[in-house]
Amino acid sequence: STNQRAFNFNAGPSALPLGVLQTAQEQLVNFNNTGMSIMELSHRSKDFEQVHNEAIARLRTLYAVPDNYEIIFLQGGASLQFSMIPMNFLQQDGQADYILTGVWSEKALAEAKLFGTPVVAASTKDHHYKHIPAIDELNLNDAAAYVHITTNNTIYGTQWKEFPATTAPLIADMSSDILSTPIDINKFGLIYAGAQKNLGPSGVTVVIIRKDLLDKANTHIPTMLKYSTFTENNSLYNTPPTFGIYMLGEVLKWVEAQGGLEKIAAHNEAKAKLIYDAIDESNSFYVGHADKESRSLMNITFRLADEELEKQFLAEAKEAGFVGLNGHRSVGGCRASTYNAVPYATCKALADFMVQFQAKH
Ligand code: PLP
Repeated sequence: STNQRAFNFNAGPSALPLGVLQTAQEQLVNFNNTGMSIMELSHRSKDFEQVHNEAIARLRTLYAVPDNYEIIFLQGGASLQFSMIPMNFLQQDGQADYILTGVWSEKALAEAKLFGTPVVAASTKDHHYKHIPAIDELNLNDAAAYVHITTNNTIYGTQWKEFPATTAPLIADMSSDILSTPIDINKFGLIYAGAQKNLGPSGVTVVIIRKDLLDKANTHIPTMLKYSTFTENNSLYNTPPTFGIYMLGEVLKWVEAQGGLEKIAAHNEAKAKLIYDAIDESNSFYVGHADKESRSLMNITFRLADEELEKQFLAEAKEAGFVGLNGHRSVGGCRASTYNAVPYATCKALADFMVQFQAKH
């Protein structure tokens, strides 16, 4: 039943809106009176094509994506984008600027080294990735093939609040904060995101790409790893992840029903504030990882000043029904992921639990 829903703070895959799951359940064995599940329909059928095209159209409207951008659906997760980007846009002797703000940007950089000469244009590694570099600290090369950033650092809990105006195309991994707030798409050459946080189940990767980049792309690469294969075939060159695209469409309808991205952003701020306040008002019983001005509204990272108490906190939280509060295996500590679909009441329950735990100890 719906009141058995967990307090789900998983970092990804993460919580989906209950209404979306219920719609999927209702439609599971007989989609749109076809007598078939959406998973059983041909990807060339008119029923599926409508789902597919509507998902693209909804995303275009929500973000006001201009006509000179294509929206495509790929597979391979955000991780395959780490390779596809340099494979398509970097020449062997070409440079690309990478800004390091955490493990995911390091992984993107490592893949680029296989294809060309990426340059670290800024890094906050020496500061344990506690903050996002200031825009005037970026050592950007105007002649670079592109500039790569990670807009939200899922593991460290930091998030870019404003984006640099770059001469080279700005490429952004938005896996963990896509659809969390309005953004000006015009600032970007390419945006990518694995679906499994704010967009739906894992299995589909969304890419928004400015059309002029396609003309400059390398051509001697595998068909399935070319962006143009997807833009030229409306993401239907081969069998797409049909169920994932259907679920993405339902999540986009849900975002619309919430009032769009402005409303979603305000909601996310209110949710995150509950938990950040519990940290800030704890007299350093809880210690946030991120510097305040770089704090993520999607992943709230913190430790307990006392290591033994931290273990107890995580154990008692688990006992109380909170899921996914352990920090990433590479950094430890605690992390509450408060993506779009995590309800306010769930965040309130965690903030209350944190205050009560502190009072007890
Ligand atoms: N980039 C960011 C910011 C992430 O948070 C993640 C994953 O969890 C990834 C990339 C990797 O995504 P995927 O598992 O879809 O390859």
